[in-house]
Amino acid sequence: MFSDPDIEYHDDINKHGGRVRSFRHERGNWASYAYAVFHPREEFLEMLEEVMSVARKHGIILNKMEEFHISLSQTVILRHHWINPFVQSIKERLCSVNRFLCVADQLKVYVNKEKTRSFLGLEVVTGHQQLLEIVSEVDKSLQEFNLETFYQNPSFHVSLAWCVGDVTKSFQGACLQELQKVLDEFEDSDLLTRFSAEEICCKCGNKVMSFSLQ
Ligand code: AMP
Repeated sequence: MFSDPDIEYHDDINKHGGRVRSFRHERGNWASYAYAVFHPREEFLEMLEEVMSVARKHGIILNKMEEFHISLSQTVILRHHWINPFVQSIKERLCSVNRFLCVADQLKVYVNKEKTRSFLGLEVVTGHQQLLEIVSEVDKSLQEFNLETFYQNPSFHVSLAWCVGDVTKSFQGACLQELQKVLDEFEDSDLLTRFSAEEICCKCGNKVMSFSLQ
């Protein structure tokens, strides 16, 4: 399963929408992170299109995320031969965790540590405690491999869309409030923003390994 040869990476700016990489790709190093999967309904994507179009009216041009998830770790660098034991370690720690309800319906702006990318996300309001418990287990696996643990006070969220640079100021005031209103008033928005967290994934380079919660 993990027997692919190391991938040689080329940093082609066209392939990542002009965003600035936090890590230089190096042969044998795999950018990796853990997350809980969110499979949106079709109507959720329509709601997002509407939110993005209102953001555009405020001069903020956003790119929709390619997939939707709740991060449970930061992006860390794993050597190829660590991937298998690292994923196994997380899997073992989470094997008895039950699936749980998540509600993520509060729009919030996030910026990466390097302040090179901004994200419009939906903050988790229900499910925070269970996510904290999962993160404390994932953190133990990270520590086992001498890797950086997650935020001390995480704000769990589903990133919806992103743009280059730190645009927190552009969202301030009326803009974010207006976007929240679009979301709240969208038909069935309360259904679209609640889901059962049941699948945990580790993405290492271009490989995704997943397992189910109980
Ligand atoms: P994600 O879509 O999970 O990768 O999150 C988008 C960005 O939010 C990441 O670059 C995180 O570094 C950033 N972020 C900023 N503050 C926080 C926080 N308190 N908790 C979680 N992520 C955060």
